[in-house]
Amino acid sequence: MNRKEEIAFFIKAEAKKLGFQVCGIAPAGYLDKDAAHLSDWLNSGMHAGMNYMKDNFKKRVDPVELIPGARSVISVILNYYPTEVKKGNKNLQISKYACGRDYHEVIKRKLKKLLEIIREFDETVTGRFFVDSAPVLERAWAARSGLGWIGKNSNLISRKYGSFVFIGELIIDLDLEYDNPAKDYCANCTKCIDACPTNAIIADRVIDARRCISYHTIENKGEIDNKLKGKMRNWIFGCDICQDVCPWNIEINPAGEPDFISRKEMLEMNRDDWNKLDEKRYNELFSGTAVKRAGFSGLKRNIAFLEE
Ligand code: SF4
Ligand code: SF4
Repeated sequence: MNRKEEIAFFIKAEAKKLGFQVCGIAPAGYLDKDAAHLSDWLNSGMHAGMNYMKDNFKKRVDPVELIPGARSVISVILNYYPTEVKKGNKNLQISKYACGRDYHEVIKRKLKKLLEIIREFDETVTGRFFVDSAPVLERAWAARSGLGWIGKNSNLISRKYGSFVFIGELIIDLDLEYDNPAKDYCANCTKCIDACPTNAIIADRVIDARRCISYHTIENKGEIDNKLKGKMRNWIFGCDICQDVCPWNIEINPAGEPDFISRKEMLEMNRDDWNKLDEKRYNELFSGTAVKRAGFSGLKRNIAFLEE
């Protein structure tokens, strides 16, 4: 084993010890195809109200612009598939990723530790870690690092862990042994495209956020488009439909991560409880979860949109 292979092997072993299911490494550099894809998507307005996606375009598509001297992008995935899933189509639904503790803090803590471990090995290494927190195209990097492929529903899909995974990145200024990009296993399947109730997957790997339930119930700070009336299928925070139907998500083992265990009180809420939810109860129930991103008024708006 040469030194680059040795350090890469060490980093992957330490990432596993920290609880990440898989760790892969790609050379830092310009993401040519992803840059073209992102540019087309923004120019056609499919980012809806997410104007922040237009900011820092250069940094988004080239980590060297973000971190001068960057050499390697280390990607990790953490399975969040819950042990218990909210049952019943009549119940109001929350995306699985939001049923446990907010993943940002959980993954940041682990990546911070990973960087410290690398620096114990070689104190000259500098780097930064990212979880949804800076202009990093996480799915593109995870795919380049061999962790999975970007499916037609635009999620990263791991052959072993499916798409209910969080992604994190650590960018460092050290050359390492690199992984090959993953193959695409969507083949002729169109289950996600067929199942989307709002036809938001307008082409292979192109999501029009203006039609997407996930965008409207989490990111949209204004009114929900009336064209979505009757099509929301009881989702009040996020939407998992295009992942639930994916064949690669069948027979996925639940995450062992204690922080991602779904909150029992949240699972037990019925339709009436959601409609009667007041701010005090909202704060008790959702403190430390991703549901806080919508805010109390946002969540109530989503519930009202379904019930009106
Ligand atoms: S998240 Fe829901 S609305 Fe958005 S593309 Fe997937 S199935 Fe369609
Ligand atoms: S449902 Fe089928 S087409 Fe869609 S992401 Fe999964 S494998 Fe790919």
